[in-house]
Amino acid sequence: MLTDRLRAWIEDAPRLPAFVYDLDALEAHARRIREAVPIEIFYAAKANPDAPVLRTLAPFVDGFEVASGGELRHVRDAVPSARLAFGGPGKTDSELDLRAERVHVESPRELARLAAKRRETDVLLRVNLAGDRQGVALAMSGPFGMDPDLIEECHAVLASAPWIRLRGVHAHLASGLDVPELLAQSREILDWARPWAEKAGIENPEFNLGGGMAVDYASPDRTFDWEDYGREIGKLARPGETLRIEPGRAVTVYCGWYVTEVLDLKPAHGRWYAVLKGGTMHLRTPVTKQHDQPFTVVAKSAEPLRDIEATLVGQLCTPKDVFARDVPVTEIGVGDIVAFAMSGAYGWNISHRDFLMHDPPGFHYLGGQTARTVP
Ligand SMILES: *Cc1c(COP(=O)(O)O)cnc(C)c1O
Repeated sequence: MLTDRLRAWIEDAPRLPAFVYDLDALEAHARRIREAVPIEIFYAAKANPDAPVLRTLAPFVDGFEVASGGELRHVRDAVPSARLAFGGPGKTDSELDLRAERVHVESPRELARLAAKRRETDVLLRVNLAGDRQGVALAMSGPFGMDPDLIEECHAVLASAPWIRLRGVHAHLASGLDVPELLAQSREILDWARPWAEKAGIENPEFNLGGGMAVDYASPDRTFDWEDYGREIGKLARPGETLRIEPGRAVTVYCGWYVTEVLDLKPAHGRWYAVLKGGTMHLRTPVTKQHDQPFTVVAKSAEPLRDIEATLVGQLCTPKDVFARDVPVTEIGVGDIVAFAMSGAYGWNISHRDFLMHDPPGFHYLGGQTARTVP
């Protein structure tokens, strides 16, 4: 599971904990996605907005989706020439002043506030279709976009504001979908959006089908089948329209590791606990998603325990600080290094990093033209 390059890095006895990103692995993965998918790809920056990550992805995507003014400015700085789509509920007035190639409008009121700026802006209206989202990792039920009824209220605003150019429809309905579910959802979106766009008189409409490609933390080697997806989504496209996706997690999750060391190993009430330096204040993913974060133990200890089930925890004073529970390990000991895989998306940037005020992790970038090391 560890790349050779990561293993070599670990042997250099780095200061831990640290996030390590393999930018060459990311580039290879991004190239695979680009070659497989014949429609536009915008990377959802919120999955991992780290600048070297964005720059590595830039040649392989058509743009970036940003979800706040902060993300917009950050991505512009990191990749100045990139096309940006600006989404997210509850945009403030100063956020609506920012320029983006596309603005994803979340409500009729937001559209009216944008129209009041009297500035030429290209928009997609975000729709929230009811549909059955059972079995998905995260259904975007709630205040995301507009119900089909509500979206009709946008027509009046558009009619009075010709500087707003309606380009099409945006939908991001769920996360954690495998190829068949994602394709079914894309058809559902297009079945609704095509007639709607035609009635609205949009020429060469754009349909942004969202992100949410599945990532299976229990099988780090089984990635989303981009080739199968790309073949099928290509068949859905019609001449004169632009289809676009905006994946996040499935793009960057595999390129990052959170690497740390075992500080203590002890039994408590029938369980073996390995206490690791750092904690879920750096890598909150296993807590938010309630899974075991996949990991590899690199042996360093002279006196390891063998063939036990270990629960890997961090340094926080809360029983929720768990990376993985009762996982069989062939060997683990104090001083061993533990590398958590699949830490490249929704890891550091969603974590409550200052809780307990431990030292922050280091950040290291292996390979890549933009490689750099932050001590
Ligand atoms: C978060 C988000 C995405 C990306 O979702 P993933 O599950 O990371 O692929 C795409 N579009 C919107 C609007 C989002 O909020």
